[in-house]
Amino acid sequence: VAAVTYAAMAVGLAVALFLNDAIELKIDVMVGTTSSVGLMAALVHWLTRRERLLRAELASAADIDPLTGLLNRRSFDQLIVARLAEAAARRRPAAVAMFDIDHFKRLNDEHGHLAGDRALVRIGEMLRRLSRDDDLAARFGGEEFVVVLCGADLYAARTFAGRVAAALEVERDETLEVALSVSVGVTSLSERGEPPAVLLGRADEALYAAKAAGRGRLAVWRPDGEHEVERFVDPTAGDLS
Ligand code: GH3
Ligand code: MG
Ligand code: MG
Repeated sequence: VAAVTYAAMAVGLAVALFLNDAIELKIDVMVGTTSSVGLMAALVHWLTRRERLLRAELASAADIDPLTGLLNRRSFDQLIVARLAEAAARRRPAAVAMFDIDHFKRLNDEHGHLAGDRALVRIGEMLRRLSRDDDLAARFGGEEFVVVLCGADLYAARTFAGRVAAALEVERDETLEVALSVSVGVTSLSERGEPPAVLLGRADEALYAAKAAGRGRLAVWRPDGEHEVERFVDPTAGDLS
């Protein structure tokens, strides 16, 4: 728009100067006017672009947890609604996996809050790396994380949790003597198309069952309350494609 307006202005000015015999130094007027207007147009263009970039940065900062780089609770709560509704409408599977770091308070107390923060960053990085682009990975609370796995059934969700647990086991933080472990609760969308609060509540319930059964394991929510607690599915064993 700026370029077209500028070109129209330049043509208009050239025509006006050409038709008006009373104006002297036509070339000087033409060059002076077009260059100063051109500079102003470039400045406006640059400022508009900068403003647009800053707006985008601000919007993303409002949606992202600064420590882990995952979605924050606010943006997650907004995004999960559409994601589950879309899965239900298309009859595509979707699962929710809720993670909580085991004995995290102890890690903070024994190694300091910076070590605790490093652990949160590592888990955030793993969840981002191991999830798919269209999944929603969020920091749900202090040391709780949630991932909405789009297109995933319960088996895929269990495998995903197994991959995260294995990554934590293999990619240890050299500066810590203790190994980090997580407990996980998983549940999946049924044909009834449960709302987000219901699925998140179920994943949380299952997570508590995993904690109660000794931590470092996974529980699958069941309607009768007898949530199935199991060891993580080993992602290196068998056919998990
Ligand atoms: P459990 O195995 O039952 O989950 O025990 P826990 O110690 O992990 O759970 P608890 O809820 O008792 O403690 C959670 C701790 O997480 C307490 C809090 O200080 C810590 N925490 C929460 N947010 C942050 C954070 O941003 N950085 C750090 N370093 N610690 C955090
Ligand atoms: Mg917790
Ligand atoms: Mg914990």
